Amino acid sequence: FVVARNVQKAYGGREVLAGIDLTVNRGECVVILGPSGSGKSTFLRMINHLEGLDWGEIRVDGHTVGYDYAAGRPRAVRNLAAAKAAARIGMVFQSFNLFGHLTALENVVEAPVRVHGIAPAEAESLARELLSSVGLDAHTEHLPHRLSGGQQQRVAIARALAIKPRLMLFDEPTSALDPELVGEVLNVMRRLAAAGMTMIVVTHEIRFARDVADRVIFMDEGRIIEQGPPEQVIDAPVHERTRRFLRMVE
Ligand code: ATP
Ligand code: MG
Repeated sequence: FVVARNVQKAYGGREVLAGIDLTVNRGECVVILGPSGSGKSTFLRMINHLEGLDWGEIRVDGHTVGYDYAAGRPRAVRNLAAAKAAARIGMVFQSFNLFGHLTALENVVEAPVRVHGIAPAEAESLARELLSSVGLDAHTEHLPHRLSGGQQQRVAIARALAIKPRLMLFDEPTSALDPELVGEVLNVMRRLAAAGMTMIVVTHEIRFARDVADRVIFMDEGRIIEQGPPEQVIDAPVHERTRRFLRMVE
């Protein structure tokens, strides 16, 4: 469903991704672990076309996301908006990124109406359903600053789901939350995974990885060092770097 081949990226001559190969199957939940600076966010941003590749190829659901490798080196495809809309990728960031002047409901309605051309009434009814599914019935008319971090992040998840994504990307969605609010966000993600959503999740929540991930990837210095089922990568890591990292976060 997601196929990344030999993805490379450098910033100012410094290599950030050193050739990432990764395939994610439909319905799979893949958790990416790795130390700060290992390239996790850069890789997610590339999948969602927020960042260009220097080399390599990423395809999502058969659509090359923003790049066409046919010419021998990656070339931006002509209709980026169409390619991106077709790929239907939802992304959730550490910092929520809600529109501060829009209510929870308006935040969720915005993209389907403005970007995807859904009729406002239809978008609103879906948005209410999604907000309800993340436990926010009572908060649809509230502005983000009146919501807790956990509530804001659940709005952000509902907003990402409103475009009916075929792939969800999460970049440390609970890192900015107070510890007591982490669980409510992870539970929403847990339910999504159980419902069969294809997900790539960057997180330091080892328990979530152990319980929910079909596969765990460990990245360091722009490379995938180790991958496999959680019981292998988390409980019996082969590489010293993976062990060192797990000792640090657990
Ligand atoms: P963290 O766990 O801290 O979020 P990460 O694994 O997500 O780390 P990235 O954010 O992908 O790491 O960054 C990888 C490296 O690329 C870092 O050294 C970072 O400083 C560098 N980098 C990322 N974005 C840019 C940019 N726009 N310009 C220059 N350097 C960048
Ligand atoms: Mg990051």
